[in-house]
Amino acid sequence: MPLVSSTALLQVARSQGYGIGAFNVHTLEMLQAVVDAAEETNSPLILQSTVGTVKHLGADYLVAAATTAANRSGVPIALHLDHCTDFDMIIHCIRAGYTSVMIDASMFAFEENVAQTKRIVDIARAAGVNVEAELGKVGGVEDDIVVAEHEALLADPEECARFIELTGVPTLAPAIGTAHGIYKGDPNIDFERIRQVADRVAVPLVLHGGSGIPEEQVKRCISLGMSKMNIATEIRIVFSDAIKQVFAHNPDENDPRKYMVPAKKAVKEAAMEKMRMLGSIGKASGIR
Ligand SMILES: [Zn+2]
Repeated sequence: MPLVSSTALLQVARSQGYGIGAFNVHTLEMLQAVVDAAEETNSPLILQSTVGTVKHLGADYLVAAATTAANRSGVPIALHLDHCTDFDMIIHCIRAGYTSVMIDASMFAFEENVAQTKRIVDIARAAGVNVEAELGKVGGVEDDIVVAEHEALLADPEECARFIELTGVPTLAPAIGTAHGIYKGDPNIDFERIRQVADRVAVPLVLHGGSGIPEEQVKRCISLGMSKMNIATEIRIVFSDAIKQVFAHNPDENDPRKYMVPAKKAVKEAAMEKMRMLGSIGKASGIR
């Protein structure tokens, strides 16, 4: 099937109480690995790229690879642009064929975040493309967006409701205490805040900073109303570690297939583990 917008996928996930894994991919092999994981587990899938990866590979290459994967696949697959602050880049990706985009204006005051998000929502809606926006500030490092721990701000539930009303944005990432990158200790998730946001807002909610959140906490987030979990750092690490291992044993290896095959396998296994945690196994059939 062709690439699909993630709006409907996430609405079904929210109504049925499971989560969809959104995996940041940086190479063809990483993309294929998470697609393989989705097929093997019959899970709906969101492929994501950061702005940095779009600049690195090209939006057209990423759309071509994701479209090929979707056309060959029986599971629904969306392609999402993660954390974008740049209007022109968002339009570029929509025109290239992305089926979902994130406008991250969370660094601005509420009114400005509303204005920038509304502008993208109006355009994306006409193109049949999903939009995600952020309220509060997720801490950590994502591409070249750096938010120090003391600058991270949790989303206000009342503001979330007002934000949805004013922008019509179909998916929302409220900052609830998770961070980008790998956690030094346990993440400090404000579960009560998730509940309060989910009580006031009917749209699917997005959990950023999904790498390394313990299983029990992932499940709690999903049960409280989170419908999409972003996973970036963790699969980058397993991909790189598998390659390092090949070179540790054979420093002269010069056939990329020899180190990409184990790297793909490692990413596929890690992605399947996340899909299991999120409860998305077998859910692709419910969407088709
Ligand atoms: Zn994020």
